[in-house]
Parts: sequence; C-alpha cells; structure tokens
Amino acid sequence: MNDEGRRIHVALHGASGRMGQAVLRAARQCDMVISAALVRPGSALIDVPLRQILGESVGELEFRAALDPDVTVDALVDFSGPHAFDAALALALERRAAFVSGTTGLSPHQLGEMHRASAAIPVLWTSNFSLGVALMRRFARVAARVLPDWDCEIVEMHHRRKADAPSGTALTLGEAVAEGRGLALDEVAAHGRCGQTGARPPGQIGFHALRGGDVVGEHTVIFASDDERIEFTHRAANREIFARGALLAARWLAAAKPGRYDMDDVLGD
Ligand code: NAD
Repeated sequence: MNDEGRRIHVALHGASGRMGQAVLRAARQCDMVISAALVRPGSALIDVPLRQILGESVGELEFRAALDPDVTVDALVDFSGPHAFDAALALALERRAAFVSGTTGLSPHQLGEMHRASAAIPVLWTSNFSLGVALMRRFARVAARVLPDWDCEIVEMHHRRKADAPSGTALTLGEAVAEGRGLALDEVAAHGRCGQTGARPPGQIGFHALRGGDVVGEHTVIFASDDERIEFTHRAANREIFARGALLAARWLAAAKPGRYDMDDVLGD
C-alpha cells in the first residue's frame, strides 16, 4: 500500500519476456497492481489481452508499446535488455516513478545515466533480485575482509541461451569481495584460465562461467587457504524468486526518497 492506503501500481517494461511473464504471475500473489504491460514497439503482442498469453485470468490488461498518460505508476519494473533500458529509465523519470531494473549487460554510460537519475527518483538496479543472493553478498564481503589472504574464485552456471559472461551476479559478488578487501575489482579480476598461466597471483579474484541446459542460475564463491576451504553456493530453482524479489523491491522503493538503493536496503538488518 502507498501513503494513501492505495495498492502500489507497477508498470512492467519487457512484459512479454521470460522475466516479464514471471513478474506478471508473481503479481497475482501479492497486493500490488500491474497497471501497464509494456512490450517493444512493433511487437505482434500490442493490444493482445495478457490472458491470451498467460492462459489465466489477469484482469483486462492488454500489452502496449507506450504508457497511456492516465495510467497510475508508482514504480516501473524493467526486465528488457540493454538496447531497451534507456527508454525504460526515461519513462520512469518522465513519470517521477520509482525505477526498479534487473536488466544486465548495461554499458558504463547507462550505469552513469541511472546514477544521475537517482537525484530525481528512487532507483534500484541489481543483477539478481533473489534475497538469498543479497545475503550471500554480505557473507562474501565479510569473509573477504576477515580472510584477506585466502584465494577467492567465483564460479557461475546458466542456461545455454545466456548472452553475457560472466553473469552480472558473479560480477556483483566479485565486487562484494573486492569491497571487503578495499580493492578495485578491475585491477584484481581474472576471467578464466588456459595454457601456461603461471602461478596464481595473490589477491586475484577468478571468474569462471559455465553454460548449458536450462540452468536458471547457480553461483559459488570459494575462499581457499592451504588447509581449508569455504564455499558459499546459491542455486535458483526458478525465475519466480527474481520476480518476487523485484516486486518486493518495487513496493519498498515506491515509499523511498530519490536516491540509489540495492537489495541490501530491501533486506534490512
Ligand atoms: P527475454 O529476452 O525473455 O525478455 C526481454 C523482453 O524485453 C522481450 O520480450 C523483448 O521483446 C522485450 N523488449 C525489447 N525491447 C523492448 C522495449 N523497447 N520495450 C519493452 N519491451 C522490450 O529476457 P529475460 O530472460 O526476460 O531477461 C531480461 C533481462 O533481465 C536480461 O537482461 C536478463 O539478463 C535480466 N535478468 C535479470 C534477473 C535479475 O534478478 N536481475 C533475473 C533474470 C534475468
């Protein structure tokens, strides 16, 4: 509910995609309203009732390429792609709505634009909306700080269709490790190994991306010393966990002041 006791209204950008459909399904189980389901201009789905795609009752909503001016939007949730992200951010700014995005593969320029937007609207971008991963980031940051000399490697596996590597989540976990050690990730990251690599330099953070099948997302952060090893592993069983996390974030963000937030803020203490 918002301050006036009205249900939070969410416009969904990328509504016909795998994640978009997961958000539509998840929204039926919470007290929020999907007020717009946005698809790419030219999509064959424009004006098609959502129930035709989802095969269940989802009210009278139809897919649209643009946001009707009279539609209420407290938060805009974006799961589209890097090429469509700018339009989503512009829409949130135009409507002064909270902006929640899970789109990965963004350029440094796009990340900068999102940061600038946070002066005007509340913004939350994360490569992984799972609460389990948010907690794992905390664990990784603490372990990296407490065990500064242990080698750290991050291994991820995703379905064969995933277009970017390593995953945004693996990079976010790497940033948590680097942050725990007061290092810049760019300076210590190593992506894969092959051939005569020589010994592992101290302080390196290694990334390894596995691809295959229909794996939704698995991440392991390994800390290794000479005598012992700690592994934090998270396995996502389905996309619904990201969808539920994004809606939880949207509800939290709709009540927040302009600024930059992450899932750690939503998770609380
Ligand atoms: P997808 O390709 O199934 O869906 C993307 C959808 O966006 C497509 O339906 C496409 O038609 C639509 N789209 C393209 N241009 C658009 C526009 N201008 N306006 C509106 N819609 C437009 O991809 P997906 O698996 O749903 O993933 C979407 C994004 O979310 C990817 O970047 C993916 O990496 C990311 N993702 C993030 C999380 C997370 O927790 N943060 C989880 C899973 C996926």
